[in-house]
Amino acid sequence: MASRDRIVGGADVGEASADGRRGQPVVRGDGYEMNQIDQGQSPPAARAVELTKMYGSGGAVVRAVDGVTVEFARERFTAVMGPSGSGKSTLMHCIAGLDTPTSGRAFIGDREIGRLDDAGLTDLRRDRIGFVFQSFNLVPTLTAAENITLPCDLAGRKVDRAWFEQLVAQLGVADRLSHRPSELSGGQQQRIACARALISRPELIFADEPTGSLDSRASAEVLAFLRSAVSDHGQSIVMVTHEPRAAAYADRVVFLTDGALVGELLSPTADTVLEQMRKLGS
Ligand code: ADP
Ligand code: MG
Repeated sequence: MASRDRIVGGADVGEASADGRRGQPVVRGDGYEMNQIDQGQSPPAARAVELTKMYGSGGAVVRAVDGVTVEFARERFTAVMGPSGSGKSTLMHCIAGLDTPTSGRAFIGDREIGRLDDAGLTDLRRDRIGFVFQSFNLVPTLTAAENITLPCDLAGRKVDRAWFEQLVAQLGVADRLSHRPSELSGGQQQRIACARALISRPELIFADEPTGSLDSRASAEVLAFLRSAVSDHGQSIVMVTHEPRAAAYADRVVFLTDGALVGELLSPTADTVLEQMRKLGS
């Protein structure tokens, strides 16, 4: 496995360093795959090419995502920022194979979502992607421990016990494992959901407003954990959020307005994110 630079506080991470490892410029658009194959490079964790998603028909059409081309680097924490209704969740769902784009393409690693059949999509979502949602989405009838190991159990894979122990210790939920979700606080439920997303070490974790239902202390705990999953364990994370303070944990922030990509920021702070949001008039 390639050595990983340890990222401290999101500093010193830029477009150049994200791809500089490979020592080659990134060619966007349709030439990208050929370029990668020629160079023997690994593709980004996920990407979208001219992705558009429209809802409705006739005069009531909503362009939720409007021709977005974007890449999400491996072993990096990327935030997708934008006001409510700007298309953040729709973009994430299309890339993760939870929704179907109207046009354009989406990839997880080298796999094109649109070329997978239902079984392929199910496998991809189960084996290569982890999800963290605002509403936790834990299974109410299972204990916390059973919720964490669910992805492994569904896939018929052995649970890496050392990794399980490490996750629950780091998340501070070791003494809550026999409880059901209804017996846990929101912060504890979201930490269980984070452990579930990481247990099978997926290629990429999508988090959609993971702190949207949490108070500031529980939010900080979840965000610090996601940060450490990238910095210390080489995870790749894409987090949708509308909170500048949450986005500041990322290495890179991309901004969406009215379904279109309108800017990006490297090594963000809450202040620079806020400033960028103001400039974009959102
Ligand atoms: P965000 O996550 O940034 O708040 P969404 O991706 O949820 O934004 O929504 C983008 C736009 O698409 C909004 O105008 C929303 O109302 C619309 N939209 C989202 N999902 C649907 C749907 N299933 N049917 C119709 N319109 C939708
Ligand atoms: Mg949303």
